[in-house]
Amino acid sequence: MTSGRPPARPASAPEPDPTADQATKDAMSNATTVSPAHSASTASTLITNIAALVTNDPSSGDGSPLGLVQDAAVVIEGDRIAWTGDQSKAPATDNRVDAGGRAVLPGFVDSHSHLVFAGDRTQEFNARMSGRPYSAGGIRTTVAATRAASDAELEANLTRYLREALLQGTTTFETKSGYGLTVEDEARALRIAAAHTDEVTFLGAHIVPPDHADDPAAYVALVTGEMLGACAPHARWIDVFCEQGAFDGDQARAILTAGKAAGLHPRVHAGQLSYGPGVQLAVELDAASADHCTHLTDADLDALANSRTVATLLPGAEFSTRAEWPDARRLLDAGVTVALSTDCNPGSSFTSSVPFCIALAVRDMGMTPDEAVWSATAGGAAALRRDDVGRLTPGAYADLTLLDAPSHVHLAYRPGVPLVAGVWRRGERVL
Ligand SMILES: [Zn+2]
Repeated sequence: MTSGRPPARPASAPEPDPTADQATKDAMSNATTVSPAHSASTASTLITNIAALVTNDPSSGDGSPLGLVQDAAVVIEGDRIAWTGDQSKAPATDNRVDAGGRAVLPGFVDSHSHLVFAGDRTQEFNARMSGRPYSAGGIRTTVAATRAASDAELEANLTRYLREALLQGTTTFETKSGYGLTVEDEARALRIAAAHTDEVTFLGAHIVPPDHADDPAAYVALVTGEMLGACAPHARWIDVFCEQGAFDGDQARAILTAGKAAGLHPRVHAGQLSYGPGVQLAVELDAASADHCTHLTDADLDALANSRTVATLLPGAEFSTRAEWPDARRLLDAGVTVALSTDCNPGSSFTSSVPFCIALAVRDMGMTPDEAVWSATAGGAAALRRDDVGRLTPGAYADLTLLDAPSHVHLAYRPGVPLVAGVWRRGERVL
């Protein structure tokens, strides 16, 4: 940290509106191709006149989990937060941005997405929403399109959805393989994802692909053997879709255990469509997250509450399939740490919008606006075992979202409205 560095310029020095200059427009168009190792300049910037600042530091501001500071300011130095607090006490900086009496919160941490894919499932969605039967292949449709796509097509698609998410305030995202399901196609999906994020998940165990339909055991052997060997160098995490029709508890345990032995850390798709062993397995293996958690027994709830495993709720999936909502209130009241993410994928949740998920969670899952905002920021960071994102505290990455609203509550209060007016990622203004 360099927060003790003397100021180079008085805090009152004027600064042009960054939204007006070409450099910022260029940065915005390039933002989704910035590599994880990108380093920002070391200039300091004061963002002041913030009506409500969400820090996610309970020792700040109102003492709530959001650590809400009124009439606040933030100082960015390089790619990190250097200072937050009452704007009247802000130190002098090189540059200055007036937030105009609006709200600032940490950039969203979307800890669950499936963005390396090709193709489209409009007809499947249309049939489902029109009450018509639809017998085409679901995930298999996307697998066929993804296998047929070039690297450049997959990269262009990924970049498009990352830009879409960034413009809605997402500054950290996890994404998975799982639409290749061959050694070569899984490894290339992870290679492409790793050029855009450090949070890459190997999901060779998404479904048993059609070419192994007669011998699922052989597919599990492939996933835990040659495929894992080819994929582990490009990933941080390993995930399994533990569900009836996908992988059972024994198969999931074998896959996650092999992944751990290869240096990957587990996360599990658990309890999305039915009750099953996924949550208990996630806790047993110290998975960072059990994702979906729509169907939970009391024993599942107890296991989560007494573990480090986060429950990641993905209401875009229930919205887009007209399914039963996960009961966030039940999880929170039991003391479980809850994250909120998009599950962005072309089949069951084709939204990249964390604000939309916040609105759903508040309206239909029993979360308060404060809880939903915490879960989409600090909760997502916990689901990725990160403490350098999802909070605005000295030393954390300078990932911030400025809302065109006086309070973070507007994210739920004004559903469907594009409230994100500014985004900083790693200290650089990208919107
Ligand atoms: Zn998923």
